[in-house]
Amino acid sequence: MSVKSDIVEIGRRLYAKNLISGYEGNISVRDGEKIYITPSGLCKGFLKEEDIIAIDIDGNLIEGNKKPSSETQMHLTIYKNREDAKAVVHAHPPVATGFACAGLGLEQSLTAETVLMFGTIPLAPYGTPSTEKLANSIVDYLEYNAVLLANHGAITIAENVEKAYFLMEQVEHYAKITLVANLLGSPKTLPCEEVDTLMALRQKMGIDTGMPRFCSTGSDVKYYRFSKEELVNLIKGIIDELGG
Ligand SMILES: [Zn+2]
Repeated sequence: MSVKSDIVEIGRRLYAKNLISGYEGNISVRDGEKIYITPSGLCKGFLKEEDIIAIDIDGNLIEGNKKPSSETQMHLTIYKNREDAKAVVHAHPPVATGFACAGLGLEQSLTAETVLMFGTIPLAPYGTPSTEKLANSIVDYLEYNAVLLANHGAITIAENVEKAYFLMEQVEHYAKITLVANLLGSPKTLPCEEVDTLMALRQKMGIDTGMPRFCSTGSDVKYYRFSKEELVNLIKGIIDELGG
């Protein structure tokens, strides 16, 4: 299997699984100095190998004659900041994107599997699609292997494109579970001690992407972790409150 045929197959699966519609979504794979990426303006469900283009880390075209994905900047930002990142999938999974449109990440620790796999799935602030603002909006969240993008969709990052695809499938699956648990009333999050145990276990398994950012049992919050931007905003808020 070539990198190009892998990307074609993942595009087909994303479309078949309703994780993208129309011309949405993009897929990239880093292979040495080359970054293979899907073109813009084509349905990713029906790509051919010759549609896939290759660029360098600065976005210069190396191979192919189609226009690179409009989200190329976001993919390059990830590769520049994460040496271990070999594949990136961006999609608009409907339930997970619903959470992102409601201003919510998938941060409740509800299933052990999800805590092990993701740590947590945070929400990055909104940036206009295809702009540098969107690319920059995710910089503070790159320790995670899946991130929701406010009012937009989701990205997953992995060591190969099949794994990045499966992460996207799991993000949507977990969004559905979280939605149902919340619709049924009061979701019972895992106790913080259990989350800590799972964190120790995932370290043993060699998974070192982001940890849950907070742990709470009901109203009893045990700990919070903040991104730099969130911490700066929090401190600014406190200073404003004290000063004003
Ligand atoms: Zn998008």
